[in-house]
Amino acid sequence: MTTSLHNLILRAALALSAALALSAAEPADWLLSARWVLPMDPSRAILENAAVAIKGDAILAVGPRAELLKRFTPKQTLHRPDAILLPGLINTHTHAPMSLFRGIADDLRLQEWLEKFIFPAEARNVTPDFVRAGTQLAALEMILGGTTTFTDMYYFEEVIAEATKAAGLRGVLGQTIIGFPVPDAKTPADGLTRTEAFFKRFANDPLIVPAVAPHALYTNSDETLRNCRALANRYNAPLVIHLSETKRENDDIHAQRAKSPTAVLEELGVLTGRTVAAHGVWLDDADLAILKRRGTGIAHCPSSNMKLASGVAPIMKMLALGIPVGLGPDGPAGSNNDFSMFEEMDLAAKLAKVFTGDPQALSAQKALEMATIDGARALGMDKLIGSLEPGKRADLIFVRANAPHAVPLYNAYSQLAYALKTTDVSDVMVNGRWLLRARIPQTLNQAAVLAAARAYQRRILESLKTPPTPAR
Ligand SMILES: [Zn+2]
Repeated sequence: MTTSLHNLILRAALALSAALALSAAEPADWLLSARWVLPMDPSRAILENAAVAIKGDAILAVGPRAELLKRFTPKQTLHRPDAILLPGLINTHTHAPMSLFRGIADDLRLQEWLEKFIFPAEARNVTPDFVRAGTQLAALEMILGGTTTFTDMYYFEEVIAEATKAAGLRGVLGQTIIGFPVPDAKTPADGLTRTEAFFKRFANDPLIVPAVAPHALYTNSDETLRNCRALANRYNAPLVIHLSETKRENDDIHAQRAKSPTAVLEELGVLTGRTVAAHGVWLDDADLAILKRRGTGIAHCPSSNMKLASGVAPIMKMLALGIPVGLGPDGPAGSNNDFSMFEEMDLAAKLAKVFTGDPQALSAQKALEMATIDGARALGMDKLIGSLEPGKRADLIFVRANAPHAVPLYNAYSQLAYALKTTDVSDVMVNGRWLLRARIPQTLNQAAVLAAARAYQRRILESLKTPPTPAR
């Protein structure tokens, strides 16, 4: 055989093997890559120059960019050499439509704020159209701030679910049950009937997890609470509730029943199933033992607990016990005023430090865990969301690290918890669908959403000019 013929055969063999390698590469819809990738998987590694491969609504693989580029043939790619790619942030407690009441009454105690301002304003204004406009405003803010899942309790929750789906967000949405007439139900029994219809309508929805949301122990009868649990368990749905938010709540329940609110809920069987308890500020060791035994998740709301002077939740004890603790901004009407999960991470870490006198109490990494994988655990959804791992849903965000407050970057956890802000979020994907690209919302018309919110402000102010309705 001549040398030239030999070379020709060799070249043909090489070309064939390259073609075979190419055709053997796995198909993917997207290959997303960034300078830093925080998968929030059990290793808690910070990967440099890494990538995530996505097909449909699911993550196929996470690993070095060069390796994934060989392994997959993606239809499209997005590489951000100045960004951090991480799981979408998970809000474990909020009241989305209350965005329309943002800042209406600040700097008050919870009971005064609720009874003098919020309950009357709600009685006069909350309609299906109101909750749709409020949810759209909230969804827009949450998407721009890197939140991909939120946990809600409000009225007309089925309308909130429609708006959430249209915005493309994932939601654990709790239909509120409360012991007095409210805009969507004259009685708690009406509320429960509505909740069951809501469960049926959104059963097996890819984005919506319907929940039942008895407002609190102190606003519901024992019978209603038992019925809420029974309904939730019939549909294998979560129950979300406010628990031991204020000292007054604990003192009142103690005076009436010589027990803590948690002990009463336990006695009623309310904790026998998937439960997310918000706040948990005034929990003692016996309460924590009950919550641990029941697998209850906690929504820690540092902004709200600070702003309403509710107190400091015993987070370090919860974490030591292995109770899953997520973060929640709570409602934006007076307990926080926005939906920023970046602020909740920063405040969760700093509040734990100042309260314990120990700067090591709650680290930047732990704050990130609470905003992602621990939040997913608190919601009982950690098999689906909370980390970037093969098989999980493609819920992820890019956060740019090129602003002056982001440079230099020694540790991505530290930067995310203490320096970066919602405005650094550039791209957001939920269930494989882009909701934000290069900071441009993909599913909501910002100008229209803001115009509707401003129109509601005028209507709400007008409604409050008339004298209050008689006390309930
Ligand atoms: Zn709340």
